Order: sequence, then C-alpha cells, then structure tokens
Amino acid sequence: MLLQDYAEKAIVFAVQSGAQYCDARAEAITSNGFVLENGEIEHFSSVSDRGLGIRVLASGAWGFCSISDPQSIDQIKSSAEEAVKSALHYASLKKQKTKLAEVHAFVDKVDLKIEQRPSIEEMVEIALECDKIIRSKKRINKSSISIHHDSFSKYFVNSEGAKISQNFDDVIANLSATAHEFGLTETASSTEGGRGGMEMITGQNDITKVAESVSQKASELIDAKGVKEEKATVVMNPDFVALLTHEILGHPSEADRVLGKEMAWAGGAWWTGKLGGRVGSDELNVMDDPTITSSLGWYKYDDEGVIATKKSLIEDGVLTSHMQSRETASVFNSEPNSAMRATGYAFMPLVRMACTCIEPGDWNPSEMIKDIKNGYLVCNMKVPSIDMMRYNWSISCQYAQKIENGELGELLRDVIVLGTAPEFFNSIDARGKDFIVRPITNCGKGDPMQIMRMGNGGPHIRGTATVKSVGI
Ligand SMILES: [Zn+2]
Repeated sequence: MLLQDYAEKAIVFAVQSGAQYCDARAEAITSNGFVLENGEIEHFSSVSDRGLGIRVLASGAWGFCSISDPQSIDQIKSSAEEAVKSALHYASLKKQKTKLAEVHAFVDKVDLKIEQRPSIEEMVEIALECDKIIRSKKRINKSSISIHHDSFSKYFVNSEGAKISQNFDDVIANLSATAHEFGLTETASSTEGGRGGMEMITGQNDITKVAESVSQKASELIDAKGVKEEKATVVMNPDFVALLTHEILGHPSEADRVLGKEMAWAGGAWWTGKLGGRVGSDELNVMDDPTITSSLGWYKYDDEGVIATKKSLIEDGVLTSHMQSRETASVFNSEPNSAMRATGYAFMPLVRMACTCIEPGDWNPSEMIKDIKNGYLVCNMKVPSIDMMRYNWSISCQYAQKIENGELGELLRDVIVLGTAPEFFNSIDARGKDFIVRPITNCGKGDPMQIMRMGNGGPHIRGTATVKSVGI
C-alpha cells in the first residue's frame, strides 16, 4: 500500500476513535552528499527515510504519533487509536481547550520546478574546483566543502478534506577557508544554495566565486586589526542582516513564543502585548514570505495545509502581526498565516519562519557609508548570542571595516556587534535598495529539537550599535 493511502486511512481511524480533528503527513526524503577536506573526500552519505506523522485533536487536546516505514493497516489503526487515547487522557487534565481557527481545505499537487537535476559526480567536480581555489592562497591551511542534495516528497491530508502533495529539492553547499600565519588562525565561511537543482550552486549562483572570496578574506584577516569597544554608527551588509533578522525579528514573531509556550526551550518575546505599538523607527519594515521560490523557506502550503502568503510583521516601525498556526490564530483572534512546519514526519509542526526579511528601502549602499564620520561596516554572519526574550543581542561578524569621513578604511577581525532590540530598531535611519535572501540551515526549536531550513535576508541597513573585538 502507498504511504499516501496509509495517511488517508489514519484519518478515518482517528475520527472513528473520537478525534474531533486529525491530520496526517506522509513524507519521504532522500539525501545524498559528501564532505571534502583539503582535497580529500572525508565521507559520502546517502540516506533515505519515509514515514507518517499523525496528529489528532480530541476534546481540545493534541495527540501525536509517528510511524517509520509503515507496513500494515493494523499498524496505522493501532497508532491512530493510541494517539486519540492519549489526547483524551491529556484533555481530562487540561483547563484550556485547544481550538483551531478555520481554514479552507485545499486539494492540490505542487512540484517545484528544477532547471538542472543534481548529480553527485557533478557536485564532487564543483567541490574539487572550489577546494583548489581556496587552497591556492598560501596562508590557507584548511579548506572544507560539503554539498548535499535532498529530495522531499510530502503529502498532507486532514479530516476537513484537504489533500495536498508537494515535491521539491534542496541543494546546499558549505564552504570554509582557514588561514594560519604568525600564530593567528582566521576562518571565513559561507553557506550557499537553495530550493531547486544544480542551478542553486552554478551559473548565476556559481559557488566557485564564493570559494575565491572566503579564501581571500581568511588570508586578509591575518593582517587585520582588532577594534576597541565603541558605540558607533554601523552599516550592516545583507548577509549579516540575514542573521540579525532571524534572531531578533523572526524568532520573537513566532506566536507560540509570544504566548510564552516555548519559554522552557526556546524563550519568549520582549514585545508580547505590543501588537499595534511602535517597536522601531519608520525605516523598520519586516515581512515573512514563503512564496520566494529559490529560498530554503519556500512552500505553497504549510504543514497544516494553509496556503502560503506573504505576511507583514512590522510596518514603518509598528508591530502589525505575528506568525500564526491555526491554534495560536484562534487565541489571537486572527488568521492562520501559513507558518506551521515540522522538520519531518516524526515531529509535530511548530510555528516557524519561512523567509523573514527586512524590506529594502531606497538608499544606494555606498551613499549610506558616505554620510558617516566615524563608524563601521560589518559584514557576513558568524555566531549569535541572544537572551531568552530576544531583547539583548550580540552577533559576531566575519569581518568589519572602519569608516572614517565617509571612506572605508582598514580591515578589522573578530568583531562582535551588540545592542538591545528596541534601542537598535529605533536607531535604524537608512535601508539600501539592494536585497538578498540567504540560506539558513540550522535553526533549532522545540523539544524534541527540530532543526529547520529557511531563508532570511534584507538590504544593507544603518543604525547605532556597540562594536568590539574579542580579547581587546
Ligand atoms: Zn533560529
């Protein structure tokens, strides 16, 4: 029997057992990739997995079970019945009953178009070329490249009549260059790729150019200086803005966090209760958009069968909405807005970012620098450190440059940028007309932990923050 047929049967069994609502996700994934270090393949990996996640709502409480590679109808029947039984048990202890906001039940089949089907031979060839480029600089003592191709096949069915199948592919490459000289070690790295085929890392998205830039940057950073702690005007490049947006705009926009439901694992949001209020300057405009096709956060329907829509989260500095599931939307008395996703069939979906970005403005990025007497250009994301309420933030960048009297100056290394969310958001006075979406592959949330892929991005932005180098 097909996985899809099992999913449909699960709905019937759950409803027969007393579920008021049930959805089932039949999913199959195949993943092929490798890690190449200093010109040698460290390992190849080839994984395939298929299974069923069954979510039931009974007497206002959730029950969930997952089955890997189901083999019989009996297995589906007993799992669905068990999920309903545990939901009913939990319901008897639960004061507040879960309600679901109403949505249309879609019937659809979606295949994301691929321009060039990925092949492992071609991926290895590109990786070897990148490795050669990275190690051509004499200070580089380590190059690391990994490339993966994943194929997803998802089928969603629920007790309200929705039947949606979605098929798509991801091609993702990680490139890293490490330079060593004078007792100093510096690394530059980048994640490339997106939802699609080989065209995500070739042609317009040619990763050999990225190999060249990480190699160059790691080498140059050996000669770079540190910076003394200073509060100053900073211009952030779109790659840095992608991580900043992820951490201090995207995460606190998840309605489950706003409600404090993720407090134990993921934290809350400092702007709880501030919907309709000002959280930043007029320049701050933020959206989340699952419809950007090449982004790792692309989908046509979320894991509750809600059709993907671009949502505006902050408009001209005013907090306008959050990312909502059917459950949180019923609490907020708003619409579900296609933000529910699970990493795979074995997990319950959670409220997740799809592609959260700061909207572009009308500044030419070089004009944003020209105005600055004393400041910094901070480039490319490194490591974030954020408090539970997403209020105090510090994010390291891969490199920075001093700005003096409108001119870019010396290269700076090991720079951390820090601030508090409201003060920084209020300080934003310019947004570039450039706009880039970056692939994010390692966002963790939930218990058990789910690692999710998404896009994040924006233009160059200018504001005030504190910069300092580690150990200075
Ligand atoms: Zn995250």
